[in-house]
Amino acid sequence: MECTLRGIGVSPGIAIGHAVLFGNDRYEVPKYKVANAARELKRFARALDKTRDYLKDLHRKAEEKLGSGHADIFKAHLLILDDATLLEQVQQRIENEQLNVEHILDELSQYYTNLLSAIDDTLFQARTADLLDVMDRLQRNLLDAERAHPHDIQDPGIVLAHDLSPSDTVMMDRTKVLGLALDSGSPTSHTAILARALEIPAVMGLRHMASNLTNETLVIIDGHEGLFISNPSSETLASYVEKQTKLEETRTALRSIMLRGGSVTRDGVAIPTMANVELPFELVPELRDSAEGVGLFRTEYLFLNRNTLPSEEEQYLAYLHAAETMHPHPVTLRTMDIGGDKFVSHLQISKEENPQLGWRAVRFCLERRDIFKPQLRAMLRASTVGNIQIMFPMISGVEELRQVKEVVEEVKEELRAEGIAFNPDMKIGSMIEVPSAVTLTDILSRETDFFSIGTNDLIQYSLAVDRVNEKIAHLYEPAHPAVLRMIKWTCNAAWASGIPCGLCGEMAGDPLYTEVLIGLGVTSLSMSAVSLPLVRAEIAEIDFAEAQELAARLLKMATAAEIKALIRERYEKRRSAEAFISLASHRAPDAPTPLEL
Ligand code: PEP
Ligand code: MG
Repeated sequence: MECTLRGIGVSPGIAIGHAVLFGNDRYEVPKYKVANAARELKRFARALDKTRDYLKDLHRKAEEKLGSGHADIFKAHLLILDDATLLEQVQQRIENEQLNVEHILDELSQYYTNLLSAIDDTLFQARTADLLDVMDRLQRNLLDAERAHPHDIQDPGIVLAHDLSPSDTVMMDRTKVLGLALDSGSPTSHTAILARALEIPAVMGLRHMASNLTNETLVIIDGHEGLFISNPSSETLASYVEKQTKLEETRTALRSIMLRGGSVTRDGVAIPTMANVELPFELVPELRDSAEGVGLFRTEYLFLNRNTLPSEEEQYLAYLHAAETMHPHPVTLRTMDIGGDKFVSHLQISKEENPQLGWRAVRFCLERRDIFKPQLRAMLRASTVGNIQIMFPMISGVEELRQVKEVVEEVKEELRAEGIAFNPDMKIGSMIEVPSAVTLTDILSRETDFFSIGTNDLIQYSLAVDRVNEKIAHLYEPAHPAVLRMIKWTCNAAWASGIPCGLCGEMAGDPLYTEVLIGLGVTSLSMSAVSLPLVRAEIAEIDFAEAQELAARLLKMATAAEIKALIRERYEKRRSAEAFISLASHRAPDAPTPLEL
């Protein structure tokens, strides 16, 4: 019977396909005596070979998609498979106890699981988790029990899971994963951000969606409305097939409009629209034509899904590639924002009660200069291309900004002493995503070349709503009057000091907020590439002076409900059929007027 669940639409689009249950497939491990130990040893050897081939294939695929650094995790898994102590332990037990190999592996797994829960050492836990992962693959090969995994999916389908880590999401093949439905999660979790980067329609926060579904169930994901529909009736299915086709047609139309003009308001004010980049494969030459730069390169993704730190050289090549691909447009490299919901398993960061308020971003970097300085060296070296600027995440006060800038100066000195070239005028910006920084923007704006407002964190911290907790996702409110006031406050300070004030949180990619953000004084918007067409289409319909009037009205309102009602009304009027037709014939003025600062 058809069943519709409402969750949170975190990545737009419609997906229709059969369910692929991920991560909740259990299997029974039998225990029995073997009559012939030699034959059991051969069975073990065959399972090892099969697992080895599988891991080699996975390593190759990961290398093609994400580069060698990220693929190293599977190299480490291959080493575990050849671990002499482990092999010896299993072999001896088969010979001495005459027990079946999967049972022995199961006991060993149990032993390591107990160890894992007892020891509070992240490095040890990560290694043990790798070991358990390899054991699981071995056992599944022995038992012919397939494990659903995003990169194992053979036929295109919709992945249903309780939870999915950003690292698992990175590994998803978008030709196989048509859609994503999760019990947990929220729009600004990094899993959601990655789903958007991969252009996979996704709905999260569904609580207990998969309880009675199987791998054969037909499901629909509506990433706009946040709906998850299982066993759709033939009418529902037909209407969604039609919606999907229309959506694709609209996207194609918008793409061509987008390429015709820049991001310019109806009255000729240029509001550059840029892309947020997480993964190397997003940096394709077409991005230079569709985005007016990279407004946020989340460099921490170079550090995830691997067992070693990326070398300075590897980072340098990644930043150089970004700069060359996007030239002459600007590329904003954000120094690593590790912590929060992004964990680097091989770094010894112990579990924290409140990771979002913990050892994160510049707080981590200022202590771990051994990791921070090579990143800055790599960024500075790549700056010779001329279009790189860097910015710091989670700046909470002036001292912190001064401290990170001092480290940049130290690195510049070192490079000079070594005769290594860099751009001495490279711009340095500060993210504004902590409320204390908002209150200090008049001072910060005098000590930095630009601001970039990170609304994902700014909303979380100012409204005290954990951005990855689905239980309170309904309280996470971009249209909260306090949020609008903080954006205004930040823009005012930037304008007064004559520096640009971009915005790179998820709000930038939601066309509902385009007019108000421009009206509040945001000078550029950076978003997932998938959102660029709609936001650009919105900008083309907006009048700058009207947007300023709207912002002034909204700033006087007391509640998010009132604010939303007004912006939605205006948005829907613009998106009416006639407006869309006028948009299709829209031509951008030849010489857009940049915003006066
Ligand atoms: C933000 O906080 O708005 C932001 C852009 O950074 P991140 O989502 O990576 O924390
Ligand atoms: Mg942030």
